[in-house]
Amino acid sequence: PQLANQIAAGEVVERPASVVKELVENALDAGASQVDIEIEKGGARLMRIRDNGCGIAQQELTLALSRHATSKISSLDDLERILSLGFRGEALASISSVARLSLTSRPASQETAWQASAEGRDMQVQLQPAAHPVGTSVEVLDLFFNTPARRKFLRTEKTEFFHIDELIKRLALSRFDVGWTLSHNGQNVRRLKPAMTPEQQLQRVATLCGRRFSDSACWIENQHQQLKLWGWLLPPTAIERQPGCQYSYVNGRMMRDKLLNHAIRQAYGDWLGDDQQPVFVLYLQLPADEVDVNVHPAKHEVRFHQARLVHDFVVSALSSALGQLQP
Ligand code: ADP
Ligand code: MG
Repeated sequence: PQLANQIAAGEVVERPASVVKELVENALDAGASQVDIEIEKGGARLMRIRDNGCGIAQQELTLALSRHATSKISSLDDLERILSLGFRGEALASISSVARLSLTSRPASQETAWQASAEGRDMQVQLQPAAHPVGTSVEVLDLFFNTPARRKFLRTEKTEFFHIDELIKRLALSRFDVGWTLSHNGQNVRRLKPAMTPEQQLQRVATLCGRRFSDSACWIENQHQQLKLWGWLLPPTAIERQPGCQYSYVNGRMMRDKLLNHAIRQAYGDWLGDDQQPVFVLYLQLPADEVDVNVHPAKHEVRFHQARLVHDFVVSALSSALGQLQP
């Protein structure tokens, strides 16, 4: 199974940030309201993700580490939904084939926690009792230690950590209800408390995307039939020349979509200078059967069934909000 897992790992595990992405998504799937991430040496040495989610029962731990074991598919409908998100049920197995992975977990129903790690050529899973609050910690040590060719492709510590931090920013802007911490080499880099009220949410946006948001951002909230758009954008008077934040989410997932970017740019019109770029954090919600999410999860692309309608809605919602600010 080691080789098959390593081949699968080629798809899932591109760099440290892709490991963090899979592990954080698992934490969110487990219903965590707090996710703590510790990184050492850009993730090459250590990535530890701890959550306060539902945990994994002792008898399920071994299974969780094996390939194609997912507890998340219960119907065909589900299967289709999950396939559209990419490779499923293989993240833990793949990661543990290219790093030293251990899983420590305690569901609320258990008195003690258990730790599982897969070792050796045959990936024999070892189980031992451990101390851990309700929830799960996944520790990934020495990424690509057994695949030197891949290890060579890791960029500098700083670059790899930059990608992890960028990922956490994206996630923190999609889950205001979750508290996050991120540290690198023992130093705290981000500490975000759950943001429930609109004020707290704007504060989180300002922390992640620049102080300009807290005094100048324009709040958007608009609905047309089944389409909803909300979020913040900066008027050109508050936009600096260096590239700023551009975050758009479709049904809760971060997207980099040409049509949306075009609509946003158009809404600014002539007000935006030639040397300026739009700055925004925007959320678009529409019925799930109105969009296709690209099968490759890393590409962040969508296809809207009614592209014209979505485009025009975004332009009109944003330009009317910006219009009110324009002198
Ligand atoms: P998938 O997420 O696609 O199901 P993974 O390999 O990422 O596949 O995880 C395998 C299984 O391990 C999950 O289905 C889940 O049951 C369990 N699991 C992994 N991480 C966690 C976690 N942080 N909390 C609770 N359960 C988890
Ligand atoms: Mg997963």
